[in-house]
Amino acid sequence: MPVNGLPPYDDSNIFARILRGEIPCKKIYEDSFVLAFHDINPQAPTHILVIPRGKYCSFADFSATASEAEITGFIRAVGKIARDLGLETPGYRLLANMGEHSGQEVPHFHIHLFAGRPLGRMLPTA
Ligand code: AMP
Repeated sequence: MPVNGLPPYDDSNIFARILRGEIPCKKIYEDSFVLAFHDINPQAPTHILVIPRGKYCSFADFSATASEAEITGFIRAVGKIARDLGLETPGYRLLANMGEHSGQEVPHFHIHLFAGRPLGRMLPTA
């Protein structure tokens, strides 16, 4: 059940369709908890999306309703992907958009992993 008045999970969202194999992705890693693939519109030399296999609309939904195994599996997978790609030096950035003000476009929880150049300030000066 979604939290904070969010709409119910939309099975037609693009990441749900990728998980079902209905549309392709450039896969980097998968296990029983996550799928990771290249962002179609990269904002850095490395721009990877890591998504849980479970149906969670957002970080708010995932953090409140996913099982401990799913949360642990997800976080460990993100760390493993970055480590295995050799990104720990010189570093990387993780980002999760949640809701309207963040600009979240796809209503399936995902973490962006950016790397490959100095990433600048955390937020653009508005
Ligand atoms: P967000 O704004 O946090 O919801 O980010 C959604 C991200 O999904 C954007 O960076 C898009 O470029 C990316 N995206 C949308 N469709 C696809 C797709 N078919 N394959 C890979 N990335 C996608």
